Order: sequence, then structure tokens, then C-alpha cells
Amino acid sequence: MSFLEYAPAPESTAVLNLKNSYGLFIGGEFVDGSGTPFNTISPATEKHIAEIASASDEDVDRAVAAARRAYDKTWSKMSGRDRGKYLFRIARLVQERARELAVAESLDNGKPIKESRDVDVPLVASWFFYYAGWADKLDHAGLGANPRALGVAGQIIPWNFPLLMLAWKIAPALAAGNTVVLKPAETTPLTALIFAEILQQADLPAGVVNIVTGAGATGSTLVRHPGVDKVAFTGSTGVGRDIARAVAGTSKKLTLELGGKAANIVFDDAPIDQAVEGIVNGIFFNQGHVCCAGSRLLVQESIHDEVVDRLKTRLSTLRLGDPLDKNTDIGAINSAAQLARIRELSDIGEAEGAERWTADCAIPEQGFWFAPTIFTGVEASHRIARDEVFGPVLSVLTFRTPAEAIAKANNTPYGLSAGIWSDKGSRILAVADRLRAGVIWANTFNRFDPSSPFGGYKESGFGREGGRQGLTAYLKGAAA
Ligand code: NAP
Ligand code: MG
Repeated sequence: MSFLEYAPAPESTAVLNLKNSYGLFIGGEFVDGSGTPFNTISPATEKHIAEIASASDEDVDRAVAAARRAYDKTWSKMSGRDRGKYLFRIARLVQERARELAVAESLDNGKPIKESRDVDVPLVASWFFYYAGWADKLDHAGLGANPRALGVAGQIIPWNFPLLMLAWKIAPALAAGNTVVLKPAETTPLTALIFAEILQQADLPAGVVNIVTGAGATGSTLVRHPGVDKVAFTGSTGVGRDIARAVAGTSKKLTLELGGKAANIVFDDAPIDQAVEGIVNGIFFNQGHVCCAGSRLLVQESIHDEVVDRLKTRLSTLRLGDPLDKNTDIGAINSAAQLARIRELSDIGEAEGAERWTADCAIPEQGFWFAPTIFTGVEASHRIARDEVFGPVLSVLTFRTPAEAIAKANNTPYGLSAGIWSDKGSRILAVADRLRAGVIWANTFNRFDPSSPFGGYKESGFGREGGRQGLTAYLKGAAA
């Protein structure tokens, strides 16, 4: 036994009070779905968690009708101050049930409990607190003379941050006075359904939030529904394009938060130890299932070997395994399909000539796992430098001058995020100014705050979530 081995420290699942099966949440109640139910599993064990209802076209229709009724009869008539009270109540209930939500999220998604406990769930609460504060101040936020809600919002979210993406969507929509129909991802519906119980606990008026579980077809029906006034989508660029086509020519307002291939740029004057931590957090946080992950490391040539050596040493200390263990750093890959994609792109990386290094760690027999991996000698033309892997895989490229770093960073169809590591503030500002990315971190990475707008350029989508800007997506005539 090496001195770095830890005794197991599993978080108890006794805090969960799961049902065997979950219905759709429509009009304030759980109701049966008319589609064929499906199972959600734990990606760490492949064990069944619960049976989930699948929403058919008629069910989506019922949910949109419930949202419309709630909008007309209650929510649009309520003062901002009262809407805010409900949002504050939801935020406090999320805090009260934080441990349960964190355990459920790690079970269903595979992310380490220390991330769901210390990052996802606290951010969910902060998003509701933040937008609760805006609900009665819309007239004073520079959003136009008489900002008004759009009506019914159809929202679709991915599996990588299930509850956090729900909060990013629902909190601003409700603060601005809209009602909602939300579709969670097929592999991670659990926390959205526990959230529905929280809405019942909060006495939110029936129909203000409706949750329709199901596969891509349910999402497709929702975005095409004529009763939906606003579509908000987070997910892949391919599905985003399909949704943009479906919404074109209608009066629906649209925001798209899509993929990314962020450059994390390390200059030779950067504090190396901090940069190594930032690189690790940038790409190995949440198994790299992060749209804004720092998946392309651009490191100045003179420090390349030192940075890569230190990175390998650091990665060798990361613990991969049971997401519910409090010592786990790297959890499970969310699905067999995602694992297959990560493997395929990594194999292509090797075949195209990049050098592959993988941390030496034991892989559990059950479940979906991928050990932290680094590719060096990556060229801009390689698939692993261009395509979003959405997994724990880092591509390392080098540069000599700031101009070269900027050119390489911007050489991507995406434009969601970027990182800059340097001791010089003037250099950070000058480089940040020339990067085509919606979010830029300096001497840190993957930091989120509800007051800070988040969103992309180019194929990373359009519109901003978070901050005062995030309200404009849910209001008539408001400009950011
Ligand atoms: P995805 O396949 O695009 O799925 C996202 C959501 O859309 C899921 O709920 C999915 O349902 C649903 N969906 C699938 N096909 C649809 C269709 N034709 N019409 C309407 N909805 C449809 O993406 P994913 O694989 O779940 O998520 C990973 C991707 O999301 C990555 O590319 C990542 O970069 C991106 N992402 C971006 C951000 C951001 O903020 N920019 C954040 C997180 C993730 P099912 O799950 O049932 O298929
Ligand atoms: Mg699952």
C-alpha cells in the first residue's frame, strides 16, 4: 500500500428518498406519461436507479397548456416582489436539501460528490438567490421602459450539469415573469424530479414550472410547439443547429449555449504551480464534461517540458473511482455512448501522430471510466485539437509569441471560453482583448458566478446566461 492510498469515505445514500418510478411534472403534480418509460442508471455501477416517464407529443402539449394557463391566470398577474419571494423560498429549500441533491446528482451523473456538494449545488442555490433579487427590480435595471415577460419558455438542458443547467434556465425565466416547460437530458433526469418536489414544497403556483422527461424527440416536439414563446437550449452544436432551423421564421426568441474548444494559454512568466492546478481544474473537472473546459493547452515553448512534467506528476495523484467517495477526484463518464466517443477521438489523436500519455490508475470493472489523458505534440490540424472531446483529454500545443498564441487560440469554430496565465496584468488585458471567446479567465479557470454573464461566439451559440444580461433573453424588447 502506497502512502497515498486512502481508506474509502463514501457519502451515505440514506439521505435519498427516491421513488421506484417518476411521472411527468405537469400543472404542479406528477402525472403518468404516455410514452414508453425508460430507466436511469448510475454510470459508475450501471445499476438501475429509477424508472422515468417519457413524454409523448400529447404530454408536451399538456405541459405547454399548463404553463400557458399559469402564465395567464397567476404568474403574469403577480408582482415582481411576490415572484421574488417564491424564488427566495426555492433557493432556501435547495440549501436545506443540499446534501440529498448532491448525492442524487453524483449517483445519476457520475460526478464526484465533492464537486456536486461544493460546486454544483451551492451554485444552484446562488442562482436562485441572485435572480430572486432581480424579480422586483426589472424596471430599474436598464432593460427598457416597461420590460415584460415573453410568456411560455421551452427549455432543454444537457447531462453534464443537470441541476445547475436547470437553475441557469429556470431562475431568470421566472424572475422575468415567464412560465416554463423544461426537458432534462435522458441520462440525468433525477435531480430535476427532486427539484419538482421542492417546487411543491415551496407552493409554487401550479403550472409555473413543468418538467417533461424523455429523449431527444420530446425536446424536438417542445421547441416546435406553437404555444412556446421562447426557446433556451444548452447542448451540442448539431442539435443547436437543428433547433435554430426549427425556430427560424417564427416569432420565438432563441438562445443557444453550445459546445467549445477553449484555449488555456500559459505564458513563460506564469506562476507555474498555480497554472498546473488551473490546467487540471480546466480540463479534468467533471471528467472534462464541461462546455467551457480548457481542452487545448497552449504553452509557451520555453516552459513546455517543465509544465508537462509537472502536470503528469500532478495527474498521477488524482483518484479515480466511486463518485460518492469524498476522496474521489475523477468520477465516471456519464454514458457508454460518451465513453465510446472519447475513446474514438483519442484513438484518432494517436493515429494522427500525437503522443498519448495516460495516468496510471486502476479502472473499476463495472461502469464507464476513462483515465486522465494528455496528448503532446498536437498540431492545429489534428482532430483532438479541433473537435470537442467532452472528456478528460487534454491536447497540448506550443507557441513562441503572444501573437502566435492569439492566432492559435482563435483558430477554432467555437468561441465560448479561454484562460490566460501570466504575471503581467498588461499582457493579460492585451491578450484577452483579442480573443474571440465569451468568457475569459485570468490566472484561474472554470469559475462561475450568477452575476457574471456566460455565453459564446460563433458555433458556441448566442445569447448570455447569468447577470443582468441573462434577464434580457426572457423579456420583450430588452437589449443587453
Ligand atoms: P445534446 O445531444 O445536444 O443534448 C442536449 C439536450 O437536447 C438533451 O436534453 C437532449 O435530450 C436534447 N435533444 C437531443 N436531440 C434533440 C432534438 N433534436 N431537439 C431538441 N432537443 C434534443 O448534447 P449532450 O450530448 O447532452 O451534451 C453535450 C454537449 O452539450 C456538448 O457538446 C457540450 O459542449 C454542450 N454543452 C454546452 C454548454 C454551454 O453552456 N454552452 C453547457 C453544457 C453542455 P437527450 O438527452 O434525451 O438526448
Ligand atoms: Mg443516469
